[in-house]
Amino acid sequence: MSSGTDNASEFDLIRTLFAPLAVGFEGAFELGDDAAVFSCSPSSELVVTKDAMVAGVHFLEDDFADNIARKLIRTNLSDMAAMGATPRHYLLAIALNERCNEQWLKTFAKALHDDQSTFGVHLIGGDTVSTNGPLTLSLTMMGEVPRGKALRRNGASAGDLLCVSGTIGDAALGLALATGNIPTVSADDTEFLTSRYFLPEPRVELGEKLVEMATACLDISDGLLADINHICEQSHVAAEVLSDAIPLSKSAQALVKRDEKLWQLIFGGGDDYELAFTIPPSSRDQLEWLSTETGVPLSVIGTVIAGEGVKVFSKDGSEVAVKSMGWQHR
Ligand SMILES: [Mg+2]
Repeated sequence: MSSGTDNASEFDLIRTLFAPLAVGFEGAFELGDDAAVFSCSPSSELVVTKDAMVAGVHFLEDDFADNIARKLIRTNLSDMAAMGATPRHYLLAIALNERCNEQWLKTFAKALHDDQSTFGVHLIGGDTVSTNGPLTLSLTMMGEVPRGKALRRNGASAGDLLCVSGTIGDAALGLALATGNIPTVSADDTEFLTSRYFLPEPRVELGEKLVEMATACLDISDGLLADINHICEQSHVAAEVLSDAIPLSKSAQALVKRDEKLWQLIFGGGDDYELAFTIPPSSRDQLEWLSTETGVPLSVIGTVIAGEGVKVFSKDGSEVAVKSMGWQHR
């Protein structure tokens, strides 16, 4: 890992902390060469993604170093899952500011190490620089998918079933709690919901298995409806979502029961990093098997129809007003 920092001891420290993250993958040469070397198996294609995060924009200024590290690696892993890819390697660029002292760096590297072990990936290179601005990080993840099988957003067709993994809205509610934007709830609910914001669970194994079943797939980062709309736009279809079918955690259920307006955070809140995907109706029976196989709850929340846009309906058939579908990219 090269370093643009001027300080020799900081360079040594970064080298000492990050070199172990490359152990286990020979082609990273313990980060001692100018670049890493690796190959893909002949039956696979390389899948590449990058996420950048800026303090104060993508995470809270005073978030702990381990939460920042894990969110960075996990959001990229989630993009691999969305493509049906098996993650392999990553590159890391960090612009450090004065907040990032030795202890911060140690905690950051330890968290990366823990998640690397969990998800079977290795650091293979990167760069470190100093900044007077906000802490800024960027991670490039590389993975493999069987040739021609990558999950895309453009394959949904009318009649397909719209599905999601896990529970929806927890992260947005967790963030609202962490920032004091909604009244407090029980300690257990607060801990559950905020951990869903700080520590997303990338659905890597599910993504790998969906390669043979899903017609379209993505991970929910912008907001449930905004992301479903991404599938609709790319596939030139529309979607109808049944609000009662959207899976909510017990904690989220308690919150929306107390304040119905919080449904808007379920519809439009991002950061859940669950997968939203479409399957042909003939695959419906396989969902339960897939859920058991992966240990991830899977729910059918609506259908794909001809047209454009996303509408939400309640049990009685009336349309539910949606204030914001989610984050709009500028
Ligand atoms: Mg994504």
